[in-house]
Amino acid sequence: MKLIFVTGGVLSGIGKGIAAASIWAILKDSGKKVFCQKFDGYLNVDPGTMSPFQHGEVFVTDDGAETDLDIGHYERFLDTDMNKFSSFTSGKLYEEIIQKERRWDYLGGTVQIVPHLTDLVKEKIKNGYETSDADISIIEIGGTVGDMENEYLLESARQLQHELGRENVLFCHVVLLPFLCASKEFKSKPIQFSVRTLMGYGLSPDLLIVRADEMIPQEMMQKIASTCGMKDDEVIAAPTLSSIYEVPLSFSEQQIGEKIAEKFHFPTKMWAMQDWKKLIANIDASKEIIQIGMVGKYVGLEDAYYSLNAGLKAAGFAYQKKVEIIFIEAEDIEKEWVEILETLDGICIPGGFWNRGIEGMILAAHYARTNMVPYLGICLGSQIMAIEFARNVLGMKDASSEEFTPEGKKNIIHIMDHQKWLTTKGWNMRLGAYPCIIRPWTLAEKIYRSLEISERHRHRFEFDPVYREPMEKAGFIVSATSPDALLAEIVEIKDHPYMIATQAHPELISRPHKPHPLFLGFLQAMIL
Ligand code: GLN
Repeated sequence: MKLIFVTGGVLSGIGKGIAAASIWAILKDSGKKVFCQKFDGYLNVDPGTMSPFQHGEVFVTDDGAETDLDIGHYERFLDTDMNKFSSFTSGKLYEEIIQKERRWDYLGGTVQIVPHLTDLVKEKIKNGYETSDADISIIEIGGTVGDMENEYLLESARQLQHELGRENVLFCHVVLLPFLCASKEFKSKPIQFSVRTLMGYGLSPDLLIVRADEMIPQEMMQKIASTCGMKDDEVIAAPTLSSIYEVPLSFSEQQIGEKIAEKFHFPTKMWAMQDWKKLIANIDASKEIIQIGMVGKYVGLEDAYYSLNAGLKAAGFAYQKKVEIIFIEAEDIEKEWVEILETLDGICIPGGFWNRGIEGMILAAHYARTNMVPYLGICLGSQIMAIEFARNVLGMKDASSEEFTPEGKKNIIHIMDHQKWLTTKGWNMRLGAYPCIIRPWTLAEKIYRSLEISERHRHRFEFDPVYREPMEKAGFIVSATSPDALLAEIVEIKDHPYMIATQAHPELISRPHKPHPLFLGFLQAMIL
């Protein structure tokens, strides 16, 4: 068993997930099968019920696990599906321990962090490695070394290194090198303290990844190595680059793959990184700007729509166009018409919950439909498209969704009877991958070039089939459904250049090297 642990130092939010995903990408490029896991210290059982304001988007895997947004980085950088063994929180682990305790599994023994919780962490890591048939498992420990809530995770890692041997378990510590603008100098002291803190847990880094906003001078890299007791070539520079997709290439140039291969006694290979070089060439060639208006409710919070932004931008690179996303607060449109909407190349309404900003989104969808502006609706954006159409084409003025008007008489979006099985928040969602059948001769078929697809979901409400016939007669097309034809999965507007929406979340399966067909189609419609 070969394991790499990635820890963070100095402060959080420095791009540990991207650094980790870039290492995975390099290992994958050398032909190794890699599995990734992330352990977070917080007590929420999963990120599913956490506010996007605090935690960014919830990333859903094929098997329906609601995970941390870093799992999205892993999928995109590795072009590999993660699963429910990929993401754990302290809350989830404690829940399992407490359930066992309540079931009398510990036979009245004292249940403790060490060994019970640490044993559970080790079991999850071993299970992940074994079930994925990986050559290397990479485990990211969320937060920052020194956080109280992560201490048991570091202890589990220490025990694993002791059990499996230093030649089988590597530690990679991602730290921030601060730069003082006043004196124009880098300061390495926080890194020294962070490495010392890590050592206090009985762990010493095999590789140190140094994040900085600027290029780091060679002498500073050497100083960090000597003050942290490391060899010069064990310290990797990670300055902020113009695109996150440059990070794997930058790490590969610093021979991180060779260093890991050497430590694990793997035969050293050549790292071609062809896919990454091609992607960067496309990014560099993307000069012309395409402006997409994202009409949502978490404006200024890129992380809330992280995968969607990444998917749209990657589709742009495929056409060598630079996608610029203009966030428009849906509530602002309700107060006063937002003129910028009229200058955009396309409008996207992303996923979301509850009724804030809904009327503004409906106004934006109305503008797109009546002005032939390309429109892409994601999940909530598909429900908005249906409500707008029902209100303004069928004249159903009070058309809405059960989510916004629970007592409403014309809830064309509702919870299907067979889906009302549980009401606790987060439990009655349609989560994970579902098959979907596309109707021939539709825009959906043209885009997907297939009649059977699979898409990931995360939502509760569905289009009520009772309204399907009158809506279709008026030019609203249900172009894909669940295999039993009950659930509307993709909808589109007849005689519109590109007004299409999906009940699913295509951004969750879009990859930088393989952008999702709905995003490519959207780009194409905007370029024409
Ligand atoms: N709130 C809507 C629902 O639950 C849409 C969810 C979403 O956009 N992910 O059906």
